[in-house]
Amino acid sequence: MGAYTAQRSVMEHLHANSLHMLEVRKVLRGVAQEKKDRRRTEKQRPPTLTSSIAKVAWEESTVRSRLRSTDSRLAGLIEQATLGSATFRHLSATVEESNGIVYVEPGSCGHGVRACLKIWMQVSGDTRFLRIVIDTANRANDLEIMRSLGHELQHVVELLGDPTIKDGPTMFNYMKRMAPTDSNRFETTAAVNAGNAVYDELREAARRNRR
Ligand SMILES: [Zn+2]
Repeated sequence: MGAYTAQRSVMEHLHANSLHMLEVRKVLRGVAQEKKDRRRTEKQRPPTLTSSIAKVAWEESTVRSRLRSTDSRLAGLIEQATLGSATFRHLSATVEESNGIVYVEPGSCGHGVRACLKIWMQVSGDTRFLRIVIDTANRANDLEIMRSLGHELQHVVELLGDPTIKDGPTMFNYMKRMAPTDSNRFETTAAVNAGNAVYDELREAARRNRR
C-alpha cells in the first residue's frame, strides 16, 4: 500500500460520513487505475528511437525501389550503376514507373551464361515479379556485372511494356516472338546496346573521377 493510499484510509476513518467515504473511494480507485494505465503504456512503448528510425528507413527504401537485391555486393553495384550511368538510371526509372518488381540474385543460369532473366513471372494483385540472376562467383569484374545488369534490365523493360505478360508461358511466347536467335536463347539488339552503353558510361565516369 502506497503512502498516498494509506493517508486516504486514515481520512476515511476521520470523516466517517458515508457520502465522503464514497468520494474518497472514488479518488482511490482513480489513483489505482492511473497506475495501471501507466504500467500498460510503459509496456507498449515502441523500441528505442534509433531502431525505429532504422526500421522506418528500411521500410521506405523497400517501398520505394522496385529493383531489389538482398545480396550486398549486387545492391552496391545497382547503386553505383544508378549514380554513374544515365542509361541505367533511365532503365531503373522505367521499372520504378511500372507495376513490376525485379529481384536481382546471385546464382547460375547454366549453359555458361553469365547473367539471365529467368523465364519466370509471379503476379500478386497488380504487381508482376521478375528475377534477374547474375553469376557473381566467377566474375570479379564489377563493370562486367553492371553491364549484365543493364542488359537484363532492358529485357525487363521490354517485357513489362506488354501488360498481357502474366506468367512464365506468356513470357516465353513473347521472347520467342520478339527475340528469337538461331540458338535456344533469346536476345534483342536493344539489350546488347543497353549493356554496352552502361559499361561505357561507367568506365567514362570512373575515368572522370580519377582526374
Ligand atoms: Zn539478353
